[in-house]
Amino acid sequence: MSSRKIIVVGAGIAGLTAAYRLQRAGHQVRVLEGSQKVGGRMITIHWQGFQLDPGASFLSSRDDFQVAIVRGESRHKVNFMALPSYLRWPTVSLGARMSLARLLPHLWKYRKSDPYHPELVSGSDAETMEEFFRRKVHKEMFDYWVQPTMDVMCSYRPDDYSGKMLLLSYVNYLSTRTYSFKDGLGYFTDLLASQLQVETNARVSRLEVQEGGRGARVQFRSNGEERTLDADCVVLTVPGDSVLPLFDNPHPAWTAFFSQVHYTSSAKLFMLLEGDDPALDQGGAFFPKNEPWQVAVVGWQRKPDGRILGMGALKAGVYDPAMTEAEFTRLVLAEAIRFEPAIQGRVKDTLVYRWPRKVPTFRPGYLEALKRFKEDPQENPFYFCGDYLIMGSAGSALASGWQCADRIQNSFEAG
Ligand SMILES: Cc1cc2nc3c(=O)[nH]c(=O)nc-3n(C[C@H](O)[C@H](O)[C@H](O)COP(=O)(O)OP(=O)(O)OC[C@H]3O[C@@H](n4cnc5c(N)ncnc54)[C@H](O)[C@@H]3O)c2cc1C
Repeated sequence: MSSRKIIVVGAGIAGLTAAYRLQRAGHQVRVLEGSQKVGGRMITIHWQGFQLDPGASFLSSRDDFQVAIVRGESRHKVNFMALPSYLRWPTVSLGARMSLARLLPHLWKYRKSDPYHPELVSGSDAETMEEFFRRKVHKEMFDYWVQPTMDVMCSYRPDDYSGKMLLLSYVNYLSTRTYSFKDGLGYFTDLLASQLQVETNARVSRLEVQEGGRGARVQFRSNGEERTLDADCVVLTVPGDSVLPLFDNPHPAWTAFFSQVHYTSSAKLFMLLEGDDPALDQGGAFFPKNEPWQVAVVGWQRKPDGRILGMGALKAGVYDPAMTEAEFTRLVLAEAIRFEPAIQGRVKDTLVYRWPRKVPTFRPGYLEALKRFKEDPQENPFYFCGDYLIMGSAGSALASGWQCADRIQNSFEAG
């Protein structure tokens, strides 16, 4: 089969995975990334001598996906979902903790489901995670276990995620491995990008089918200049809510689906703390929605050199993207000091990292829309991948890029 010209729009983990796989299949692949840096929501930065992952900080993925992309010398396994520690969760009554057993039949029902095809899993998707968990398991476990963890990890409000997605995400965590990298998750995206032709500061503004009805034309702005490129096909990995504005006449199937893709937004405050007080060695908490705190999480840890890295974030219902950086910092710091007074006067520097899009919501009904879209996505010559097509995580985005490369390869082989 002859080598084809492919443009990938977006150098997040989904785009880089698709590009890497298509290049390995012998195609000429070029990646256009709108920002200055590759990685999208999976990056590593350095600040005040600390290595930080301001977006995704762990990757849950099937081994075969990752191993085929990168040798694992720098990976280490994260004990993120260590069930025994959750079962000792101190704020929840023993009765509520025991009620977790009621989850087992539901998890059993979904045990053979493929978390990388959530839309194919049978069963109703009409309830929010809150309605499902309160009805089938325990109100207290929802309020003090599910809700705060979903707020901290995804900035989800209780109705942003369906009960079915909650079960599928548990099955996903149980059936995949969760990793971080010694050099941060950005190590992984940088490694992929280093093996590809990637152009940063190249923001795509318009996509159309080439005259004659075959192939795609990409218009983008690079270093202040408008440019155009033609390709046999385009892999579109921009966030799902940014797809429609790129087309003059989007297909009705795309309009129906992409208008339902929404994201949560959030910001993290990183803090450099200094001081000898043992209270600053390590600490922190998650704050449930119905407790009188404005933060979702506050935490800190002393590093071997004695300096202390702290972080905090506001609850999903409290964070407002219109807040200024100063307002956000003031609010998180005030709450951190209310929680641990030893922090007062010990904050030497702060860094705010904002995410207008954190993860996609999967509200009741979303899976049905996703199923309709995937049955007939009208893809050629534009193909889609990203976390919103699977589960809203870095591992799902990786799998989506992988699946997209396979669809393209199959369509080339079919002629
Ligand atoms: C704060 C935070 C914490 C998270 N924690 C975790 C976690 O611990 N574990 C986990 O699994 N997931 C986590 N996630 C989710 C995870 O980061 C994402 O699901 C995943 O990285 C999405 O990858 P993607 O490639 O689909 O999208 P993105 O990473 O968003 O990539 C899309 C790329 O397209 C580029 N782009 C957009 N528009 C254009 C355009 N017009 N032209 C050119 N380029 C364009 C963007 O700049 C971006 O680089 C977290 C996310 C955030 C924000």
